[in-house]
Amino acid sequence: MSYRRYAWVEVDLGAIADNVRTLKSIIGPKTLFMAVVKADAYGHGAVPVAKAAIAAGADRLGVATVEEALELRDAGIKVPVHTLSEPPLTAAPLMVEHDIVPALATRDFAIALSSAAAQAGRQARFHLKIDSGMNRIGVRSEEAADFVESLRGLPGIRMEGVFTHFATADVPGDWDFDRQLERFSAAVSAIRSAGFDTGIVHASNSPATILHPEARFDMVRCGIALYGLHPASSTYGAVDLRPAMSVKARVSHVKRIGLGEAVSYGFTYQAPGPTTIATLPLGYADGVHRAASNKFSVLLGGRECRQVGRVCMDQMMIELPADASVRVGDEAVLVGSQGALALSLDAFAEAAGTINYEVACALSMRMQRYYI
Ligand SMILES: *Cc1c(COP(=O)(O)O)cnc(C)c1O
Repeated sequence: MSYRRYAWVEVDLGAIADNVRTLKSIIGPKTLFMAVVKADAYGHGAVPVAKAAIAAGADRLGVATVEEALELRDAGIKVPVHTLSEPPLTAAPLMVEHDIVPALATRDFAIALSSAAAQAGRQARFHLKIDSGMNRIGVRSEEAADFVESLRGLPGIRMEGVFTHFATADVPGDWDFDRQLERFSAAVSAIRSAGFDTGIVHASNSPATILHPEARFDMVRCGIALYGLHPASSTYGAVDLRPAMSVKARVSHVKRIGLGEAVSYGFTYQAPGPTTIATLPLGYADGVHRAASNKFSVLLGGRECRQVGRVCMDQMMIELPADASVRVGDEAVLVGSQGALALSLDAFAEAAGTINYEVACALSMRMQRYYI
């Protein structure tokens, strides 16, 4: 590596491939696997992750936006790419042109898709989004069959699948989960009873894939587990995943300070005695949450060291013993391993008062990704 900057993210694509294989072994050969690579693959890099996931057996890709889908198409990726929410009507022609499969939840979008398909002289497929109780997007479950009926006259569009998304999939033995599953199953049955083919039926995100075999249907949609991260503590024992992401930096400055000297904005930390302070050149603009200031550790010089003082926009400081032999250029690990020690992304998320999902996708474009 030729460093232009002493702060970066490493992504282990072998871990991504292993996680795809692990999840596919859970769901079995008859269930399709969608790798969810929205938000730049949760900060891991959409194109390299998508390619690794497809090589390991992923059948389809899921993203949030049309831009994200186009990035995959521009990289030459040919598998079906879905947007998991319904884009603006004006995006319909672009979606038809690049064969991007929209989530569809409104009649207006169906009309826009139909006319874009007619204009292009093509068939456009969509997946109907059914709201099973989360009340985010989707056709209400009890109205789903009528909604499908109402699309009957629209030429050029084909319902390739129907899906829902659970609000409480990570809670084992949850009554609310059972109700959501019942509403979805009832909607699927009603659509079939009205004489329509529901195509590929899917509902499960990572936690549902791991914890609820009864909800796997024809396809699962895994995001967080693909990256080797657990959706919640409830899945820890249930599946063996390998985290793909490490966050690293090199020391940019070292100084010794004495008793009572303070560090960083607002002087929220004061040295309890003679102390070595190492500066790392990354901060909240890189995705290291300021809310975690003074609450997390990094691995440096073979030990776990506290981050001290407020995390700044581009830099942060680390506390070491007065006699520490740390030097500029030494490698520090915020997430990942150093020797026998390891720090998880979950530990940082807890310090930041948030979830691993948010920490991973907050790592900004400024952090160069290296693939190993
Ligand atoms: C983000 C998303 C997923 C993936 O969720 P994970 O918990 O990361 O597995 C699946 N389905 C939909 C509709 C989503 O928006």
